[in-house]
Amino acid sequence: MRAWITLIKLVKLVFLSFFLLSGFCNALTLAGVSKEKITPIDFQRSPRLAGYKISASLLGCSISQNPRKPSENLKHTDLYVRTLVIKHDNKTIALVSVDVIGLFRNSLEFVHLAFPDVFCIISATHTHSAPDTLGVWSTEYVGEYLAFVQSAIIRSIHGAIQQLKPVTFSVGTTKIIGLSQDYRLPFVIDNNMNVLFVNELETGKMLSVLVNWSAHPANFGKGSINLSGDYPAVLINLIDQKFGCISLFFNGAIGGHITTSWAKLFKKPGKDGFSGLPDENYIPETGEQFLPLNFEFEGKVAPRNANSNVLDDKKGIERIEILALNLFEFVKSVYADRETVDVDHIIAKRKIFEIPIENRFYALNQWLYIGNKLEKSIILKNYSGIFFFSYLLVFLSFFTIIVLVIKRKKSKTKYSCKTYLFTIFVILFLNIGIYGLIYYLSRYMYVTNTEVNYVQLGDKIGIVFVPGELYPELSIGTSIVPDVGCDYHNLSWEPPIKPLMKPKYKFVIGLANDEIGYIIPKCLWDEKKPYAYHREGMSSPQYNEANSAGYDTAGIVISNLIRLLKE
Ligand SMILES: [Zn+2]
Repeated sequence: MRAWITLIKLVKLVFLSFFLLSGFCNALTLAGVSKEKITPIDFQRSPRLAGYKISASLLGCSISQNPRKPSENLKHTDLYVRTLVIKHDNKTIALVSVDVIGLFRNSLEFVHLAFPDVFCIISATHTHSAPDTLGVWSTEYVGEYLAFVQSAIIRSIHGAIQQLKPVTFSVGTTKIIGLSQDYRLPFVIDNNMNVLFVNELETGKMLSVLVNWSAHPANFGKGSINLSGDYPAVLINLIDQKFGCISLFFNGAIGGHITTSWAKLFKKPGKDGFSGLPDENYIPETGEQFLPLNFEFEGKVAPRNANSNVLDDKKGIERIEILALNLFEFVKSVYADRETVDVDHIIAKRKIFEIPIENRFYALNQWLYIGNKLEKSIILKNYSGIFFFSYLLVFLSFFTIIVLVIKRKKSKTKYSCKTYLFTIFVILFLNIGIYGLIYYLSRYMYVTNTEVNYVQLGDKIGIVFVPGELYPELSIGTSIVPDVGCDYHNLSWEPPIKPLMKPKYKFVIGLANDEIGYIIPKCLWDEKKPYAYHREGMSSPQYNEANSAGYDTAGIVISNLIRLLKE
């Protein structure tokens, strides 16, 4: 009998130590959230709004102008930096969502330096109604506002780390039809909404909701001076109110060009080349076709103006609110069907690489900015080469003037008008010469560093981070054959990302740790005539190349991602 009791005690001991050991191996996963306001404190010292261009007329010529500063009286929503930190064992990741148009990689270097043990991802929601943080739309106060945003990012990550507590995870996905549209042919949309729910282990209370969906937050009129986080801000407010948490929105594959409003496409009269799109609002005289995106909420129809790209501010706000209410319904439906997942390990990896700046206008703009506004240098550090030319120009200009002054002192003679004119001519000539050199050589000379990232939470959640606005064709893939008008239409597509990801739930988050512009599949690149999709009579191709680093970008980004996923 005694032997039996001893045996039972022994078995108990073995079981107990087994549980203790397994508990040790399965360390708890912790999470913390935090948010910091980045609404400008002094609107007078705010950069202009970023993202829109206003068409204006100067002496009968059509020119584009940047929008104005935001108005304090027309604030639709506040702007925020929101951070979710997740920690398991010795791995800590910080996912940061910022209500701005984009953030260049070099303006985020300080975050990585401030948190060397944290794997930081900072992604812009791409709202078009926030102050410029890239220096593309504004020349004043960009550095000042950027510093304000930078310090908010640091405080937000720090705040989230302070809040770390044991959590559980659940996740779900849904497809959304009718709330986003492709502005650029071919018509391909990644319409998946992925949602991650983080709950406190002890109380079950919702700590954070992470939403990943793809569409441009650009619902205001181009002349608008409203400050707004656009639909992501309104959606996040709805979620925070319902669940009493701090949520985050991350945009996905929005290139190519995904909007939440109407799309203006072109087709050749008499030809049907839109792969089954309806013949709605087609104007035979111009070849234009407007594809309005109609949606409503509880009988309230979202206002639209299909014949102009200007929605007035009140209509813009109404449209945003109705869109966000629709998206919120989808978040709730995902919540109802969510799957609980075990996050027993975290994978976090990064790949840094170079891409050529083939876009000569990128190079030119940078150069001109540095020539005129030193403020720009803060955000343009990573464009090597441009510095060389801007310094060369400044040096040559000064050199010419110094030579002239020395000569004048030596000869003690007054220079004639001719000499001064000659000097101005030399400086102008140098300017034009360097301008020309940059224009023709930029695509062979300039590179910038950028990065791709991958995070995996347990076995079921995979998150790919791309440094710009990815074409949906490269997120979900397509079997569409590119139009013969595309410059490289015979090439095959770069492999799409989502089919390459092993986990069941595949998140693709754009504008992450950089904003290199549109990431366009090479086979869709269209700069040379004839332009694709029945546009041979048109004076310009479809929009996007102007805001892309180049035709090789997609191939380099995707090949680095493939290597990163295999590592
Ligand atoms: Zn964009």
